[in-house]
This record gives sequence, C-alpha cells and structure tokens, in this order.
Amino acid sequence: MADKKWVFLFDEVDQAEAYMGNNWENVRGLLGGKGANLADMARLGVPVPPFFTITTEACNAYSADKHFPEGMWDQAMAALKKVEAATGKKFGDVNNPLLVSCRSGAKFSMPGMMDTVLNIGLNDQTAGGMIKLTGNERFVYDAYRRLIQMFGSVVLGITEEAFEDVLNEFKKSKGAKVDTELKADDLKELTEKFKVVVRREKGFDFPQDVFEQLRLATEAVFNSWNGKRAIDYRRATNIPDDLGTAVNIVTMVFGNMGNDSGTGVAFTRDPQTGERKVFGEYLLNAQGEDVVAGIRNTEEIDTLGSVLPEAYKQFMDICSKLEKHYHDMQDVEFTIERGKLWMLQTRNGKRTALSQIKIAVDMANEGLITKDEAISRVTTDQVDTLLHPQFDTKTKSTAKKEGRFYASGVNASPGAAVGQVYFDADTAQRMAKEHKQDVIMVRPFTKPDDVHGMLAAKGVLTSEGGATSHAAVVARQFGVPCIVGASIVHIDMDKRQMEANDVVVKEGDWISLDGGTGEVYLGKLALTAASLEEQKELITLLNWADEVCAKPGIRKFPEGWPTRGLQVWANADYPKDAQRARAYGAMGIGLCRTEHMFFEQTRLPIVQRMILSDTTEGRTEALNELLPYQRADFEGLFEAMDGYPVIIRLIDPPLHEFLPSEEGLLEEVITMRVKGETEGLAAKEKLLASVQSMHESNPMMGLRGIRLSIVMPEIVEMQVRAIFEAAANVQLKGGTPKPEVMIPLTGHVNELKWIQPRLERIVKQVLEEKGVATLHYKFGTMIEIPRAALTAGEIAEVAEFFSFGTNDLTQMTFGYSRDDAERTFLVQYIEKGILPKNPFQELDRDGVGRLMKIAVEDGRKTRPTLEVGICGEHGGDPSSIEFCHLLGNNYVSCSPFRVPVARLAAAHAALKYAPK
Ligand code: PEP
Ligand code: MG
Repeated sequence: MADKKWVFLFDEVDQAEAYMGNNWENVRGLLGGKGANLADMARLGVPVPPFFTITTEACNAYSADKHFPEGMWDQAMAALKKVEAATGKKFGDVNNPLLVSCRSGAKFSMPGMMDTVLNIGLNDQTAGGMIKLTGNERFVYDAYRRLIQMFGSVVLGITEEAFEDVLNEFKKSKGAKVDTELKADDLKELTEKFKVVVRREKGFDFPQDVFEQLRLATEAVFNSWNGKRAIDYRRATNIPDDLGTAVNIVTMVFGNMGNDSGTGVAFTRDPQTGERKVFGEYLLNAQGEDVVAGIRNTEEIDTLGSVLPEAYKQFMDICSKLEKHYHDMQDVEFTIERGKLWMLQTRNGKRTALSQIKIAVDMANEGLITKDEAISRVTTDQVDTLLHPQFDTKTKSTAKKEGRFYASGVNASPGAAVGQVYFDADTAQRMAKEHKQDVIMVRPFTKPDDVHGMLAAKGVLTSEGGATSHAAVVARQFGVPCIVGASIVHIDMDKRQMEANDVVVKEGDWISLDGGTGEVYLGKLALTAASLEEQKELITLLNWADEVCAKPGIRKFPEGWPTRGLQVWANADYPKDAQRARAYGAMGIGLCRTEHMFFEQTRLPIVQRMILSDTTEGRTEALNELLPYQRADFEGLFEAMDGYPVIIRLIDPPLHEFLPSEEGLLEEVITMRVKGETEGLAAKEKLLASVQSMHESNPMMGLRGIRLSIVMPEIVEMQVRAIFEAAANVQLKGGTPKPEVMIPLTGHVNELKWIQPRLERIVKQVLEEKGVATLHYKFGTMIEIPRAALTAGEIAEVAEFFSFGTNDLTQMTFGYSRDDAERTFLVQYIEKGILPKNPFQELDRDGVGRLMKIAVEDGRKTRPTLEVGICGEHGGDPSSIEFCHLLGNNYVSCSPFRVPVARLAAAHAALKYAPK
C-alpha cells in the first residue's frame, strides 16, 4: 500500500493516464472530474494555479477505517513541496506564505453537494507576512475571517448561522450594509470574533498549525462524500456510492486584491437557451463564493471586456479552446489576480433540455461533433421535457387582467408548474410523497441540503440568487421548472408565508410558475400542450434520428426481415390525433381503437340499441345508423395519414362497457319501486335484465375481441364496410389510403380462419360497388394472448401482420390485472425489489419479451415479410423500443405526444447496435 500512488501532481496527467490504461473516463474516476480537467487544462497550456490531487482510491481507503492509507500523507507533503517550488512560496512561511484551497471533486460533478475550504495556510503569523507582502491588510483579514468561517462550518461542524449572526450583528454595529463596506480594522476585529465563535462552540481554538488545517480539511472533504446531501444527490442521479471523491489542493489565487482583480463563473454557451455566446457573471474585487452566493449584484461577462480587456480576451480564447478540446459546452470558473487570469475549473456544463438540444444540433452543424453524436447526446427525457405542457400567452394575459400576476424573477429552468406552496424541503417532500400534492417549494435561496425537496416539487421559487445559483443549476439538471431571485417576494419563515406588493401567500396556497419567462402567478393556471412546430432544433435533431433509422443495413436480419431501423407510428382514434401524430413525425397509425368512437354522445344511444336488440334485424338497423358515422371517422383518418398505413382495430371490449352499470341500474329500479314511480320503470327493468344477462365474472377474459366478432359478426361486418367505403371514397378523390384491418385478441388460428374470410368478402364487395380496382390493404391480428405468440407460425398463415398488444400480453403473461395490480400490490412489488420495474410501463424482456421473440421468429418462418409492430403502452417507452429494435419489429406505435421521444429512442437503439 505504501508504494501505491495516491497523489498526482498538476503535471502528472500522462502518468495518471498510463496508470488507468489510457482511458480518460477512468482517469476522471481516479482524479475526479475537477482534478482530471485541471490537469488536462494544464497540459493544454491553459493557466491553472499549481496543484495536486489526492485520488478517489485514497478516499475509499479512508472511508473504510477513517484513516489515511499508508503513504498518502507523505506523498501529499512531497507534492506540496513541488507546488511550493512552482509558486516560489512556502506553506506556513511567515515571510512568503503559500495559501491553498482544499476542494472536493468526484468523477461526476455534484455541484455544491460536497465540501471545499479556501485560504488554508493563514494563521496569526502568516497573516502578518501576507500583509507585508501585499500591503493590503483589508484583503488579508477578509481572507482570514473567511477561512475561520469555512473551516468552522465545514471541518468543525459549527452551524453557518453561528458565524452569520455574529457577522450581521457586527455589520449593523458598523453601519455597513454589505461586506465590502467593512474596513481593514473591522475585518481584523471580525476575525477575532470568529475565533471566539470557534472556542465557544468547540471548546478549543482555531488551529494555528497550517499542516493541521490541511489535514483536517482533507478529512472533511473525504467525509463529505458520505454526507446526507451528497447521498441524496447520488440517489437522484444514479451515481454509484463507491466512486468516492478526490481532493484537490490548489494554490490560492485571489480575486479580491483590488479592482484589477476579480472572479467569475461562465458557460461557454447559454445554459438556458443554448445560444452560442459566452454566458456568465463576475465580480471585481471578490472571492469565488461571492458570485455563487448572490450576495452582491454580479456583472454580465460582456462588460469585463471594457474593464480588464486583456484578461477578457484571453478568457474568451480559452473558452473556445476548451469547447474545441472537449467538444461540449463548458462550465468554467476563473479568477483574475492583479490582471493575471487563472482558470480554476472546467467541466461539461449542466443545461436545460432546450439548451442541450440546440447545442447538440449547433455543434454538429459547426463540425465539432457528428450528427450521430448529437443524437446520442440528447436523452429521451430531455425531448419529453420540451414537450411538457406550458402556459399559453392567452392564459397568462387573462391571469394578468384578473390581477393574478404576482412577481417575476430570473427564468432559471423552463417549464410550467402549478402547485401548493411549501417553505422548506422536508415539508415539500412530505406533502408531495405522502399527501400526493403538487408542490412548489419556495425558499429565500436553496442550499444543497434542499435537493430532496426540489426533486419532489413540481417547481421551485427563490427570492434570492442568480442564474448560476445552486437552485438554478440543480433545477435545470433535473428539468424542474424554476424561478430564482424574485426579490420582490419577502418570505417570512416564522409565519410560513410570503408577501409581495402586499399580497400574502400562505403555506398550502396555490401558485403557478412559468420557468421559461420567470413569471409567478397566483392560483392555478391552465396548462396547454407544447408545440413541436416552433422548436426548430428539435425538429432537425429528430429528422437526423429518422435518417439513422431509415438507413438500410443498420440492422442485420434474415431475408425478408427489416434491415432499416424502427419506424414510429401512433395510436390515434380521431383525425385530429392523426394530424398531430403526423406533425410529430409518425409514419402511420398503429392502432385506432374504433370503439372509442362508439362512446360519443350522439352514437352511444344507437350502440346501446344495437346491443339490447333481441333480433338480428334490430341489430342490423342500428348498425346501419352507425355506419355513416364510422365511415366519416375513417375518411378523416385516411386523409390525415394519406399515403401512410392506418391500422384500424375492430371492436375489442366486452359490450357491457357500453351500457350503464348494473349496480347503478339496480339502485334506480329499487328507488323507483319504493317511491312507486311507474313511468319508465318497465324499460329500466328490461335494461337491468339485459345487463344482468351479460354479466361475466371475468370480463377481460370473456366475450370480447375476436370472440365477440364470431358471436356477433354483424358489428365487425359493419366496421369493415365502413373502413372500405371510406378508403374507396378517399382513393376516388385522389388520395392514397392504406387501410390495415386488425383483429384483436386472437388465441387460436381457427378463430381467424372463421372470421377473416367473411370480412375479406365484404372488402371485395365494397370495392366492386365503388368501382375501385386496386387498393392497398392488409388483414392482420394483435398478439396479446400467450397462446397466440406460441402458435404464431400457424397464425401467420392467415394474418399478414402482427401487432403486439403488450398491455394485454403483459396482463395475461404475468396473470396481473392491468386495471388493479398497481393499486393492490404492484407498487409494493417494485418498492420491495421483487420486480425491477413496472412491467406495464417497461417491457419485461425475459417473460413477455420471450413470447414476442418466439412470435416474430415463428411468424416470419411462415411469412418472411410479416409486418410486425407494437401498439401497447410500451411502444412509447425507450427501453421497450430498444427491445423492439432488437426483436426485428418494423415499427413501434405510441401516443401522438410520445412520437418525438420514440423517434429519438429508435435512433438511439439503431446507433447502439449498428453493425461495426
Ligand atoms: C394492448 O392490449 O396492448 C392493446 C393495445 O389493446 P388495449 O389496450 O386496447 O386492450
Ligand atoms: Mg388489448
């Protein structure tokens, strides 16, 4: 262990690479993202203060027994000597002291979740030396009091309030509003007061031994890996617990040495919109935490050009150099010390979904990355976020007219959120989780300890802080709509209320946030669907995704099987849904549930008459009345999807679903009898008797689907006539309808053999009547019963296509009721880890998926060109889409709103499994 290398110097990145098998991801794992990138920047020739990194391996060894591993501290001390040599300063030296920061840095950035201590190396002696050296007593005491404050809270565990209270009291006594108004003598006095806080709280003095300071700070950073907020954050982001954090010991550079000094943070592109423009803020004569904390008003980065032009130009050059090097938008921290620029950090910047998509598309257009990389970089969740509901302008202007506009702040993370206000993270989480409320968390500012509340909330509002504050960064990452710095809002934590312009909002009241514009409204605003049409870059990205899927040879399969990727179709019952689906990029309709049309107000009475009729003639008469409605529905669908396949499923549910409930009828009949009402009683009794006669103990396994078609063929005969009359009409008008008739719930090939020829005869008859010679159409079936999957070879003799109805197939394979399982046991199953995922949301590849595989393989053995799709809810789920890609599906079909997500998921699968 003693000869293991625990420490890497700023110029040892090549060694770290060699040690990690020349794998940069592993170097990041060893040195942490911050350490690895600092060393990488040093290698690129970017000015970085000399530093060394103690590895994550050391952190893990330390975590095991709370002791530094053997040899680690000696190596750290040796590295410190090298840093001393590089800076010409000496740690603890009275005349020329080296000051360092001790910074956390894990493989994946966890902004603000772990600890950092600045200005280590200051004590009563070195402070004197620093004053002689800089001639700036004010600066030195400011640095010293900050060290005691940070060391006290981070390392010694004293509450921040203990220092803040003293500071606020002190400022008041000096008549100072902000810290910068405090003079050198004041800060010297404050330093002494802070030392008293340490003594009072801990019973010992702030350590004057600088090596002791460094050692304790290193331990504190290691320990912060297992702090509550770090653990919460890891849970939320799926970062493994065993990675550990590295510790970076970095030479301090000072942005608070006068007006030729400053410090700032910036993104190389706009993290909210993705615009190609350096976006950031800085403060002259300040230290890093002043910018992030939002205590002083920061300046926009552009203005640095006129204040410190040379440093600004160098900074801009470095930004573009870093983007080119990392091929991604960077989030950087810098400090200018007496005109000299130092880069303190670079990492891939967190950003909104909107920004991610724009940056990916722009970078591909700029040639920085390939189109495939752009596609891979954007997650399906990000696309989903962009298509989340918004408030439309009309809703907002009406709300304004009604006097419901409340406040505005910085639009930190886009999206609309409506919820009840809670003022702390624990309550917000409890109300959301236990009481199932929609929650808006409101805080003066959020700290990393508030993350669990932010994650549980629909939206976050703060009265302080800026666009790079923790609230903003974290909200953007998780896609939580967020407004920060709404300074007009005064939060009273004691009364648990907030007030703006004399309007008080109490805990539990409803508000609405527009994270895209930064507006806060009182009460609940109505949400509307987002429009894809206006999202230029997303459209481009999805077109690229379609190109990937359209490439022949992207899948390798036997003859007849698809060799391009998946197409995305949509489940749509009405022409307006079909239009939306097409606008969202669907290339067909994979499921039209015709029975939904039966429920419309004008039609339901006719449907009921048809069901209740005792004679075939009576049924036919009612069906003839329904036919024109259905024909018109189908014409609309074919027109909306002109040129694309439209799969229309024949009636599926049990008929009792169209009738009033048995319990309700019984109650009505009894009431009428008791009250002695006779008018209409006979009809009600007859209806009740019919409903009772149709009662089934297990209707989902009863008279429905193909079984109903066989028992009562008139209904599906009418439907097929309506489909083909509509198709013929549309074709005669010059359109290209492509109807595909889908028969649900087949379990035995003989069922199909019985019904399908009857229906095909009707097709021929209609086409003859209409004088249409050729029309592209197919007959196929749903595979949603295990027996159908297992006998797919036979079924494919009759069916020209299969569509997996994975809602029913999951229900029947697991034997879980799709209507009740979640409510009764399934949620518990998932919480207890009995099932990894809800199988009604994400396809169970091992069980249901195995049946699907058998069905595709056996089906295509019989009919190699068999068209295969999926139309259960899984058709819009990225993992299930990937499975369908591997299975050899031709398409997936999902809700129109999920189509964009499915297009991206299909391309992700195609790229992931493309033949090399
Ligand atoms: C299915 O079972 O997956 C399906 C799409 O049909 P429904 O949900 O209408 O039963
Ligand atoms: Mg079904």
